[in-house]
Amino acid sequence: MRIDIISALPQLLESFFSTSILHRAIEKKIVNIKIHDLRDYSNDKHKKIDDYCYGGEAGMVLKIEPIAKCIKELKNKRKYDTIIYMSPDGNTLNQKKCNELSQKKNIIILCGRYKGVDQRVRDLFIDQEISIGNYVLSGGEIPAAALCDSIIRLIPGVMNNECSALFDSFQDDLIAPPIYTRPENWNGNVVPPILLSGDLKKIKKWNEEQSLRLTEKNKNNIIKL
Ligand code: SAM
Repeated sequence: MRIDIISALPQLLESFFSTSILHRAIEKKIVNIKIHDLRDYSNDKHKKIDDYCYGGEAGMVLKIEPIAKCIKELKNKRKYDTIIYMSPDGNTLNQKKCNELSQKKNIIILCGRYKGVDQRVRDLFIDQEISIGNYVLSGGEIPAAALCDSIIRLIPGVMNNECSALFDSFQDDLIAPPIYTRPENWNGNVVPPILLSGDLKKIKKWNEEQSLRLTEKNKNNIIKL
């Protein structure tokens, strides 16, 4: 899979992909991440990429020209399955969408900044808009990083078998059961005895029951504003 990320602040993203599972996936050549600095596509001698908002509203807007140029250059080189704009008013990301995107070959992700991008960018170049939740961050880099992480860890070969993503929460609409490791007793807080029993059938049943209990609890977890 190849992911091209277009950003006004590429430094924010570079460190994110230089460690952990994502770095391993890049090293193993399972995924190819290319980060594009929007300023490199500006025709302005000062590398300007933003301008005032028409209508007098406060804040700057990312201009259409550098974004259009970058997307055009990328599309001239290969076919993209989808072009995504990270946006607070997009469709909220969920596991189903992560699964779907993890099967794509080439993706472009556009990160907004300041007040966002000129609406014509959204109208003309974007296939889908994704939000990571109903709150506003200063830029699309953290949302893009979250999206990439959630997709890449699902690609076969990225994670070791023992931590297979298939058993994670939401993968089958269930929340994963509680997990424990050594010590068995920490200051009087003990691991549920069933997990130490060695009875695999009973452990499986216990895990399923816990999973259902937590799924029910999660359904009722409505954040009250
Ligand atoms: N003016 C925009 C609005 O009211 O919806 C908010 C712009 S925000 C300060 C700047 C950029 O951060 C957005 O263009 C988007 O790319 C990104 N962003 C912020 N919050 C986000 C979220 N919850 N999900 C996805 N992207 C987000």
